[in-house]
Amino acid sequence: MRFSDTFLNDLRSKIDIEDLIARYAEVRGRGRTPVCLCPFHNEKTPSFVIYKDTQSYYCFGCGAGGDAITFIRNIENLDYTEAVRFLCERTGTDFPNDPVDDELTRQRRRCYEANREAARFFHAQLSQPHAQQAREYIQKRALTKETVVRFGLGYAPASWDALLKHMRSKGFSDQELILYDLARKTAKGSCIDAFRNRLIFPIIDLRGNVIAFGGRVLDDSKPKYLNTSDTVVYKKSQALYALNVAKNGNNDRLILCEGYMDVISLHQAGFTQAVAGLGTAFTPEQAKLLSRYCTELLICFDSDEAGIKATRRARKILADTDVKLRVVRMVGGKDPDEIIKKYGKERMREILEGAVNETEFALQSAKARFDTETADGKVGYLNEAVGVLAAIPNAVKRDVYITQLAGELQVSKAAIEAQVAKLYRNARKKEEKEVFGQAVKHLRGEDTPSPNPDKRRYPRAVKAEEHLLAALLANPAYLRKFASRLNEDVFMTPFNKRIFAAVSEKIEQNLSLMPSSFSATENEETVAYISMLLALSSQVGTTEKSFGDYLTILAQEKKKAERSESGPLTDADFLARIADCKKTDS
Ligand SMILES: [Zn+2]
Repeated sequence: MRFSDTFLNDLRSKIDIEDLIARYAEVRGRGRTPVCLCPFHNEKTPSFVIYKDTQSYYCFGCGAGGDAITFIRNIENLDYTEAVRFLCERTGTDFPNDPVDDELTRQRRRCYEANREAARFFHAQLSQPHAQQAREYIQKRALTKETVVRFGLGYAPASWDALLKHMRSKGFSDQELILYDLARKTAKGSCIDAFRNRLIFPIIDLRGNVIAFGGRVLDDSKPKYLNTSDTVVYKKSQALYALNVAKNGNNDRLILCEGYMDVISLHQAGFTQAVAGLGTAFTPEQAKLLSRYCTELLICFDSDEAGIKATRRARKILADTDVKLRVVRMVGGKDPDEIIKKYGKERMREILEGAVNETEFALQSAKARFDTETADGKVGYLNEAVGVLAAIPNAVKRDVYITQLAGELQVSKAAIEAQVAKLYRNARKKEEKEVFGQAVKHLRGEDTPSPNPDKRRYPRAVKAEEHLLAALLANPAYLRKFASRLNEDVFMTPFNKRIFAAVSEKIEQNLSLMPSSFSATENEETVAYISMLLALSSQVGTTEKSFGDYLTILAQEKKKAERSESGPLTDADFLARIADCKKTDS
């Protein structure tokens, strides 16, 4: 839906972009130009810049940029209208009550409604006579009534159309139900329930919306677990099960498990920080999400081979975040559910408390691969262990482990120390080199992604166009002042031609040139690009003279391109071009 400028201006005036972003990322260098690690891609040095004077942001690493609304859209995974609603709630602003939803917003709202209705239906089925098998399963897993209600568990009847009939009676069309993956189409073209004879786990987002379902079989059919496919409100790579209940724990720790039942057993036993992925391998998006809600993560995967592999993958992905990792070793059972059932929650608590940190885990896994009773095995283990210790940045911590290792293997401490120190120095040197290389690239603008497909072909023209647009954003009056020379045809690349049209339209209508003004009418890519241009305007010349120069460069580039496109060069052309190049390069 469209919002009036007065409304958006009012909303905007109540938000400080720096404070808003600081809720999601640790903002450093609070002052004129605050920076932080980009919340939209994994990085170790900050390239996400906040521009207070334009109330915008831009990431030089991945090209994300925009205003408060764009930020909320992306970080909360909302559409435009929902993001505005979200900011209204945060700032106590009344949301305009003549909603003319656009199609996507309407679809998403319908999908939430359908899911909520389906969740209610599944839950109500649990107490029906035909749900006997589901109730037996719940009993077997020793889930209390309270737990069943808390997680909204339900039952999908063993029928082809029980849910369909119910949803049709509530006004949902078959087409909608297929779109929301509550129903599926058979090869013959008829419509059937997506979940049949399964125990249902609703998946709920942080704002309490039912976004998807997981269903576990109650007989021997396959697959054992069935999940909603991606829909307009659900991307399984970006969601976590039970984060809606887990994040309310007041402790900074979360427990990552493998499946629904692990999470539910842990919650019931009082470990309410448990969450799980949703039937996919752990993703960087999930890592990013977790890092927003905890400082320490306990990985609690099954003790089988698949679990060990999954742990390794998660550790690798989480290494790019600043979450402290501890790996839980399942002793006496293959998963938390089994351990709690067999030995009780005290045993589980001990196991969670005994979770080893990264270093201990790496040392233990290395040791398990060697027979340290033999000399060869000892050397092999030592070599690997030294590598692990050299990766510890803290000197005191390094020393603790070196002492421990020397005692354990009865080797001189000095020998291990020397070896670790050598590796440590090499690693630092390599790291410094990398950081330096990154910085150089950054300064040259090589790693700044551009949405303009012609940047490679006409690098000089695109640069001049970008500077021209940046200067125009800083001085809207140039539009009139340079009216005789400045029009759409000045731009060589269709991309910037379009941006110029958007910018000049705002100027002519006397509207704000902040990204927020564009986010109401333009797509996200354009808003990010405008944010980049605004960032650029504080770094390039924006005087009338520079503006004139940019126009001149563009005229030259245009001529050059036209010449090279109009067949083979004559000698005279060739000489003229050489002369041109000399002039512009100096
Ligand atoms: Zn980024």
